[in-house]
Amino acid sequence: MQELNKLWQQLMDKLELSVSNVSFVMWFKPLKVVDFSDNKTLFLSTKSSFAKNQILKNYFDKLKSGVEEIFGEGVEIEILDPNEEKDYLTKNKPNLTKNDVETTKNPFNPKYTFGNFVVGKCNQTVYAASRAVAENPGKSFNPLFIYGGVGLGKTHLLHAIGNYIREASPQMKVKYVTCEQFTNDYIESLGSSIKNKTNSQFREKYRNVDVLIVDDIQFISKKTSTQEEFFHTFNDLYQFGKQIIIASDRPPKDIETLEDRLRSRFTMGLIQDLQPPDFETRVAILRKKCQLEKCSITDEALNFIADHVDSNVRELEGMLSKVCFLSNLIGKNEADINDVREAFSDKYDEKNEGGSNADQIIKAVCDYFDISKDDITGKKKNKEIVEPRMIAIFMISEMLELPLVTIGKIFGGRDHTTIMHSRDKISSEIKTNRKIQTFVSEIKKMLKSG
Ligand code: ADP
Ligand code: MG
Repeated sequence: MQELNKLWQQLMDKLELSVSNVSFVMWFKPLKVVDFSDNKTLFLSTKSSFAKNQILKNYFDKLKSGVEEIFGEGVEIEILDPNEEKDYLTKNKPNLTKNDVETTKNPFNPKYTFGNFVVGKCNQTVYAASRAVAENPGKSFNPLFIYGGVGLGKTHLLHAIGNYIREASPQMKVKYVTCEQFTNDYIESLGSSIKNKTNSQFREKYRNVDVLIVDDIQFISKKTSTQEEFFHTFNDLYQFGKQIIIASDRPPKDIETLEDRLRSRFTMGLIQDLQPPDFETRVAILRKKCQLEKCSITDEALNFIADHVDSNVRELEGMLSKVCFLSNLIGKNEADINDVREAFSDKYDEKNEGGSNADQIIKAVCDYFDISKDDITGKKKNKEIVEPRMIAIFMISEMLELPLVTIGKIFGGRDHTTIMHSRDKISSEIKTNRKIQTFVSEIKKMLKSG
């Protein structure tokens, strides 16, 4: 069974790379192995007869050649729609449960490789450090601590390291978790009645690895017991020369809840930051994505996107997908500047109906909170000023999508990371904090009514 899981995962990885993201998610990802007990025919189930027909019509050749390459020459494929699957399962009793196939899922996204990571000035040192660690786990920089703003490629690099090690040294045990998973696992292990047993299971899981990768460590909770457990895990692994790689949206010194002894552990190795990509890198990233997603776009359109989306790579990608989607929808082979205009116009309309500019937004925020423009753009640090300032920064960034550096200039020459921090803080608070929601929506109303 183990073998079948592995083969299936290999097939999925291969297919994921050979078609567009949308096609993969729509057609291949939902496929499940129903039976392969005779080693001759791979019975697969689909979610609907429509999906079955689509696969037969458009993707069967890809599927077939993948299956032959990975499962062996001459292996046949039978695709079953849900009714056929039911029939099949009542007539045959294959020795296989769904879980069998899911358990060994590769934790690493096959698209997040070093090869697919575009290297520019903004990220070349982090890239080099990540490669060094992947090529020589435990022997170059330990721990490697990567930090940088949202959507700048931290998770991509962590996966690239994981993918690399899995391929180059398959015998190594690589564990990837988000900080949240680590915390949940730990809390779960405490909750069990047979405490010692689960505790040792927890330890087994985290300390019996050659490489531990922890994403988004900034979420490490204030719960000292979780930090304590992480501290011991860290020490244990470190002592035995195991590699530890950590990503965070800020440097260790700025993770407020972090205990000093952990902070000092994090600074023992190499700390590297990812900067937002410059224009050339953004263009190169867009080109790479076009190649991966198999979409084509004119240079003019591509440059326009690179010029107008500069906050992070995730948004850059999102805009490209949208543009390609719109152009596909009307049957064009190549997206052009008209598709870009359409994609952008949507965005501006919904966000900034009144067409306000930065000055107007700042004025509205100042009026609303009854503070002066000098204060809001100045250096004062009291709460009555800081919160409105962050709200104004957030609104300008959301509504006008100005580059962070430009917003920094408007706010008295602040650094772009400060701007990013303010924006991200409000953008996450607004999801749950009623007060902030009300402030923003009332200020927007003021802007609309002029
Ligand atoms: P983070 O974890 O820093 O928030 P991610 O690693 O999730 O960001 O990156 C967001 C998206 O941007 C991903 O799809 C990733 O592949 C892409 N990306 C980021 N940086 C690069 C780069 N230098 N080259 C190619 N793709 C990138
Ligand atoms: Mg991430």
